[in-house]
Amino acid sequence: MVDLRNQYQKLKPEINQAMQEVMDATSFIKGRQVFEFEQNLAQFTGTKHVISCGNGTDAIQIALMALDLRPNDEIIVPAFTYVATIEVIALLGLKPIMVDVNPETFNIDISALENAITPTTKAVIPVHLFGQCSDMEPILNLAEKHGLYVIEDNAQALGADYTFSNGLTKQTGTIGHIGCNSFFPTKNLGCFGDGGAIFTDDAQLAEKIRMVANHGQKQKYHHDLVGCNSRLDTLQAAILDIKLKYLNEHLEARQKAASFYDEDIKDLAFAELPLRMPNATHTFNQYTLKVKNGRRDELQSYLAGHGIPSMIYYPLPLYKQVAFSEYVSLGFKLPVTEYLCQSVLSIPIHTEIDETILTTITNTLKSFK
Ligand SMILES: *Cc1c(COP(=O)(O)O)cnc(C)c1O
Repeated sequence: MVDLRNQYQKLKPEINQAMQEVMDATSFIKGRQVFEFEQNLAQFTGTKHVISCGNGTDAIQIALMALDLRPNDEIIVPAFTYVATIEVIALLGLKPIMVDVNPETFNIDISALENAITPTTKAVIPVHLFGQCSDMEPILNLAEKHGLYVIEDNAQALGADYTFSNGLTKQTGTIGHIGCNSFFPTKNLGCFGDGGAIFTDDAQLAEKIRMVANHGQKQKYHHDLVGCNSRLDTLQAAILDIKLKYLNEHLEARQKAASFYDEDIKDLAFAELPLRMPNATHTFNQYTLKVKNGRRDELQSYLAGHGIPSMIYYPLPLYKQVAFSEYVSLGFKLPVTEYLCQSVLSIPIHTEIDETILTTITNTLKSFK
């Protein structure tokens, strides 16, 4: 599905040197590279404050911890997402309210969001799934009307942008109050282990987020908040700072591969290709087909038989997971989420994919009868 080996080979001299510098300085925690990377990422994305942390799941947890929320406050999330988005809500004693998604964009459905808002709703977490921005303008309008925080789960979409009806363009993760990012190796900007970051334009919130991620302290051994320990280590920051310079190039490679798929398999009778929103760019962290007529698993086996990997993101709605059963009534069902869990199939897309590989994949797809 991804080719991290060849990507590393190309950047090896630079990355190895950056790592060597960290090791020579033995500045493994809070080395200067951490702060340099935070600043460079702030500049890249156009956000005022970047606070790095241990991983993308922590980023969402810390974002929620930095808001003044109380037990059982309701947080609205799309049901079709990775577990991390809702897990941390439950972990903090808040109440995840799962809503359906749009079948074309895979992102939170605006009317479902609107219908789910109650007086105890405090925040919404739109997820920019597979690399495409959620429809942020109506989300921000609803949030403003009802006094909700907007926390973007930008784990899959770093580098995507969204254009408002007035022409203003912003990058994903910098649109809501807080944006949460993951540097898991397969994400758009991946490190050599775990890493994450939180974006905000709000200086006060940024200070609180930094404290939460650092044991609730601003001054060493003075703990004003119950926090946690979540850090991006210096080695990862040094690697990320190198890879950030290639992010645009890597995003272009993904888009080029997606365009190849768009054109070459547009006539497949058994599958629908992913839609691109006209007012947002898609970073194609995943290229996800919807396979018709219940043939998804059959297609996956067929591809596997021809040596082509594919993945199902995600096979089971979160409200059907044992861990989250207490948040829904028996038999709770969201039709689009159900349909997507049964029909989605992500095919290989990454920064090193070339036309030879793409053609093998599309020819195999075309030969599926
Ligand atoms: C990867 C991912 C996360 C979590 O990131 P980690 O760094 O693995 O903790 C959260 N949400 C979404 C949508 C993701 O894809």
